[in-house]
Amino acid sequence: MWDSTFAESSDRSEKQVSGAEVIAQALKTQDVAYMFGIVGIPVTEIAVAAQKLGITYVGMRNEQAACYAASAIGYLTGRPGVCLVVSGPGLIHALGGMANANMNCWPLIVIGGSSERRQETMGAFQEFPQAVRSSIYGRPGPCYVDIPADFVNFQVNVNSVKYVECCMPPPVSMAETSAVYMAASVIRNARQPLLIIGKGAAYAHAEEALRKLVEQCKLPFLPTPMGKGVIPDNHPNCVAAARSRALQFADVIVLFGARLNWILHFGLPPRYQPDVKFIQVDICAEELGNNVKPAVTLLGDINAITKQELASPKSLPMNYYTVFYHVQEQLSRDCFVVSEGANTMDIGRTVIQNYLPRHRLDAGTFGTMGVGLGFAIAAAIVAKDRNPGQRVICVEGDSAFGFSGMEVETVCRYNLPIIILVVNNNGIYQGFDADSWKEMLKFGDSTAVAPPFCLLPNSHYEQVMTAFGGKGYFVQTPEELQKSLKQSLADTTKPSLINIMIEPQSARKTQDFHWLTRSNI
Ligand code: ADP
Ligand code: MG
Repeated sequence: MWDSTFAESSDRSEKQVSGAEVIAQALKTQDVAYMFGIVGIPVTEIAVAAQKLGITYVGMRNEQAACYAASAIGYLTGRPGVCLVVSGPGLIHALGGMANANMNCWPLIVIGGSSERRQETMGAFQEFPQAVRSSIYGRPGPCYVDIPADFVNFQVNVNSVKYVECCMPPPVSMAETSAVYMAASVIRNARQPLLIIGKGAAYAHAEEALRKLVEQCKLPFLPTPMGKGVIPDNHPNCVAAARSRALQFADVIVLFGARLNWILHFGLPPRYQPDVKFIQVDICAEELGNNVKPAVTLLGDINAITKQELASPKSLPMNYYTVFYHVQEQLSRDCFVVSEGANTMDIGRTVIQNYLPRHRLDAGTFGTMGVGLGFAIAAAIVAKDRNPGQRVICVEGDSAFGFSGMEVETVCRYNLPIIILVVNNNGIYQGFDADSWKEMLKFGDSTAVAPPFCLLPNSHYEQVMTAFGGKGYFVQTPEELQKSLKQSLADTTKPSLINIMIEPQSARKTQDFHWLTRSNI
């Protein structure tokens, strides 16, 4: 902070500034807004100078309480609060608060006065920007800056003091992409997943992203004592009322800024399943793998990582739920929905909503495949006569589409603005991806080795539509799906077909009650 030697202090021709004022200004420059403490020799002037600059100073009755207060400021605001104490007993009293901030991972700056020193050692003033930075960067925590007594009242030429610019908020780090995918896959395959939301998540301001994750993926969550309120306690997915059971029966637990210490029973049996998989999200690498061997570790900022996780289930390849979620988002309430297929029709029924009677047509009582295009054409003709502009959405499995795909020519001939969605998993019920298909063919003639439910992988059904002058789209990502559906809905002059590639093994979520799945009986 002193950019040259203290010799300049003897130059009385310029305005002078005291060490105390320099400290206060340095704190102010670092965006420190609150100071708690008990004054005495040699720190009184620092408190006065801070107050003069608009830093809120709260005089407390014991340094320990002052330090607790200052550390809570760090947690609440993300910028460290200052605890100002005198040397010796003052600092000793503050230790309790420092230890507490250390354990809580909360930023804090403790400034203690110490006895006079020789001038050469006073370079310690440089430590302010570092103190602020190290209190908030990485894992937040306390910092101690020792101020020699002779510093406080030392006068220097005001122009000789250069303040280091306010240190930026901590850079935000994301987790490694492969770990993000792995975590998403472990969560997706969990029978009883549980999110534990700790005070690290609160500090990270991850409330919005975590809430989205909980709601979109329908995940139960348990807050730690200070994680309470990140998502409101009265949220339907909060399992706090059944905490012990939730911990005991979870097969996958995601820790968002919570440590497996005594509060969480160290993550060990009998409070947990012996084979429970932990996914740890923490900003502190040293924390990862503490007490248990995690299935996946995500090193970085909770808010950023939660957003990464939110983006990942939408990523590739899509499944039925992702597809229907995006379709449902764009459909108008009055549209006709025609649907056929196996999983496509079954899962589509649970996600795609109808709001009007006689606006849903599907495989019907006879369970017929191949009715879709005919039904869609009829609906479009009726719509044209009775309610021009009303849309017909025809949601077809790739196998089902095959039964009447050539009716696309009819659709084009009459220029019916039907939107056909082919949910393509390369087969009936399930299929193979292109690589597995190729591998399989090495074992013999396709008639001998291809499972009867497989269809040719990556068939470009959209070209059936373009062949007759309609619009065709081949989509593999949620973004492509959203875009093509938007364009199709906007274009009322032309039919379109969106060929949506999904995970070939994608299936229905297993039913909670086995009697709901007849084939399992
Ligand atoms: P709780 O008591 O609520 O279980 P803990 O104090 O045990 O919470 O754990 C909080 C964890 O959060 C610490 O390990 C800390 O490193 C981590 N943490 C703090 N801030 C962030 C952040 N922005 N992103 C990720 N992890 C964070
Ligand atoms: Mg904890």
